[in-house]
Amino acid sequence: MENYSIADSRYKDIRNRSFEQSFNIYHVHLLEQNLKSNSISADGFMKFVIETSLDNKTRLSEINRKLYCYSSPKNLLAEFENRMTLGQLKEDYNEWEKNNLDVVSVMERRYNDHFITILSIEQFREIYGADDDMDRECAYCKTKRFEFKILRDSGHLLTKRIYSRGRTLEIDRVKPNRDYTKDNIVLCCYWCNNAKTDEFSATEFKKVGEEIGNIWKDRLKNDEK
Ligand SMILES: [Zn+2]
Repeated sequence: MENYSIADSRYKDIRNRSFEQSFNIYHVHLLEQNLKSNSISADGFMKFVIETSLDNKTRLSEINRKLYCYSSPKNLLAEFENRMTLGQLKEDYNEWEKNNLDVVSVMERRYNDHFITILSIEQFREIYGADDDMDRECAYCKTKRFEFKILRDSGHLLTKRIYSRGRTLEIDRVKPNRDYTKDNIVLCCYWCNNAKTDEFSATEFKKVGEEIGNIWKDRLKNDEK
């Protein structure tokens, strides 16, 4: 019987991240319309989620940019026109969340049901592979898990973050502003994921990935000497 505990835990991580992101985007959507927290509802949230998941690319990129601005009041001022009330609205939403954790968990349950329809755990296990599958490789540098293990065991990986990242393959969204659908995710090593960020497209990053792969090959060769 294959064991998928790493895949299953990654699946939960990306589902949670996807929920949090959608929940924040929903806030931005309300903020754009100057709506107070009494407009927040599980039904409204799900309607918004379904609509944006069908939405066009431009709108999603725009809303993601605003979402980033949402994290900083200084950026908010530059981005939104209704600047007088923004701080108050944001506080109003945060206060609502604190007092309505039961509604938030209903939202999260309903979101998880929706998430299964865009990426099921079976589809994800298929992409991610079983715990002991060491032949899975990074989509960009093409380095395999067993090669990373050799590099690590021989002290050829230098990052201090090796205890928290780099020991297993990560998930990259090919189009960073789109959701975690089965067609939009690939396996990726920590180093390529970190270099690609949300800036480069998969096509643009191809050459960079090849060069990173060459560096790993050199280090693996040095190991044989
Ligand atoms: Zn890589």
